[in-house]
Amino acid sequence: MTASGTLLKEINEKLSASFPDIVSWRRYMHQHPELSFKEEKTALYIKEKLESFGLKVKTNIGGHGLIGILEGAQPGKTIALRADFDALPINDEKDVPYKSQTSGVMHACGHDGHTAALLGTAKALSEFREQLKGKVIFIFQPAEETPPGGAKFMVEEGVLDGVDYVFGAHLDSKTPVGKVTTGEGFQMAAVDKFKITIQGKGGHGARPHEAIDSIVIASEIVSSLQKIVSRQVDPLKSAVVTIGVFQAGSAFNVIADKAVLEGTVRTFDEDVRKQVEEQIRRIAKGIADTSGAAAAVDYLNGYPALYNHPKETQTVRNVLIEEFSEENVEEMVPSMGAEDFSYFLLEKPGTYFRAGSKNEDEATRYPHHHPRFDIDERALLNICRSFVKIVAHYLF
Ligand code: MN
Repeated sequence: MTASGTLLKEINEKLSASFPDIVSWRRYMHQHPELSFKEEKTALYIKEKLESFGLKVKTNIGGHGLIGILEGAQPGKTIALRADFDALPINDEKDVPYKSQTSGVMHACGHDGHTAALLGTAKALSEFREQLKGKVIFIFQPAEETPPGGAKFMVEEGVLDGVDYVFGAHLDSKTPVGKVTTGEGFQMAAVDKFKITIQGKGGHGARPHEAIDSIVIASEIVSSLQKIVSRQVDPLKSAVVTIGVFQAGSAFNVIADKAVLEGTVRTFDEDVRKQVEEQIRRIAKGIADTSGAAAAVDYLNGYPALYNHPKETQTVRNVLIEEFSEENVEEMVPSMGAEDFSYFLLEKPGTYFRAGSKNEDEATRYPHHHPRFDIDERALLNICRSFVKIVAHYLF
C-alpha cells in the first residue's frame, strides 16, 4: 500500500470510529431544526463542534454562515467543502425518538445530515494536519431553502477568496445507500419567480361591454405563456414556465377588476433564461394593451443554474470510483429543481455530487421535503469518505 493509501486507511478508521458521534450530531440537529435565516442556535452548535476539533472558526459570514479553517503543516492548494444547515416549514410526521421538537419545522431535505457529515470530515481531517499539504475550508451555509439564499451572501463576503476548488454533496433518497452520483455540466436549473397583476375594470356580470374583464385577459395570458416553451425556446434547450397561482373575482355575477398570476421559470442556459423573462413581459403587456387593461410584471431572479465543472467532476468521479468501486458510482440525473451551491460553482471550479440514502425500509424512501422524510444514516459516512478522499487527492 502507498503512503497516502495507508494514510487514507487511517483516516477512514477514524471516521468509522466517529460514526456514532456523527449520527448523534445529525439527530440533535434533527430534533432542533431552524428555518432559513433563523439558524442562530444551529450555527452556534456547529461553531462549538469546530472549535472542539481545534479549528479556527469565523462566524456571521453573510448572515448565520460560518467556516472552519484547517491549516495544513505544509503549503499547498486550498479546498473548500460546503454543507447547508437550514430546515423547512414542514411538520415532522415521523414516529422516531429524534423527531423534530419544534412544531411546524423539520429537516426534511437532509441538511442536518450534510452538516453532521461535514463536521465528521472536519474532525477526522483535523487529526492529520501534519500530513496535509494546503488548507481545507469547511463552509457551513445557512438558508439554502429560501431565496435569495445564504450562498450568495457568503460568496459576496469573500468566503471563497484564495480557494482553488469547491465541493458540495447532497443526500439522495432516490438512490440506494452505498451509491453516489456525479455528472458534468448543468445539473440543476436556474429558478425565477414572477407575478403578473392585470388591472381591468370591474362591472356587472350582465354588462360586459361596460367593463374590462381581468379574468378573460389573465386567461389569455396564461394560454399564451404556454407558447414560450413550445414555440419560442430552442427545442434542444430546456425551460419550464409554470403558473402556480391564478387569483381573481369575488362573486359569480361580478366582472373582476383585477387578476393576479404567479409562477416560476426554470432554465439551464443564461440566454434562454433572459429570453423567457423578456417574453413573459412582452406577452403580459401585449395582451393587456390589446384589451385595454394594464399588466404589471414583477420578475425576481432566484438561484442560477448549477454547473458542475467537467474537469473537477471527472476527478471526483475517479476518486469516488477508487473509494466505492465502479458499480457504485452512477451518472447523476439532471433536474429542474434548484440549489444555491450554484453560486459557489460560478466563482470557483468544483462539483456537486449526491450520496444515496435509501434502503429497503419504507421510512427512507420518502422524497425530500416530505413530512416523513428520513435517511439511512450510513449515507453520512459515505459523504465523509467522499470528502476525505477528495481532499486526499488534492492535498496529500
Ligand atoms: Mn436540499
